[in-house]
Amino acid sequence: MKERMKKGFTLVEIMIVVAIIAILAAVAIPNFVKYRRNSQASACVSNLKQIQGAIEQARMAGKTDYADADLFGEKGYIKNAEKPTCPAGGTYTYLGLDDTSDPTCSIGKTLDGDDKSSWHILDKGGE
Ligand SMILES: [Zn+2]
Repeated sequence: MKERMKKGFTLVEIMIVVAIIAILAAVAIPNFVKYRRNSQASACVSNLKQIQGAIEQARMAGKTDYADADLFGEKGYIKNAEKPTCPAGGTYTYLGLDDTSDPTCSIGKTLDGDDKSSWHILDKGGE
């Protein structure tokens, strides 16, 4: 009788623990990925707003053309800041002062077409 009282866990107990951990991971990981993606999109939109603001300041100041050094850095409209970069690795496009279209990120709507909070664009349609 004494030999049956071994210390440790049975296979069923270990399987239950592993199953619980698997369920928790299955719930948590997709949410983590989604929150990370959406926070990167928010940071990107914030950068686009800053770039747009700097370009509008250049336009207001009567400049006819500008370089990145006019917008960012020591003498730029965004002081003491490097040119903002997309946290998800997109590249920014912004046109000359005569073009009033919004600055854009190369990622745009490509990450999750339906989920506006993942879009890297300035105008999300009345948000
Ligand atoms: Zn972006």
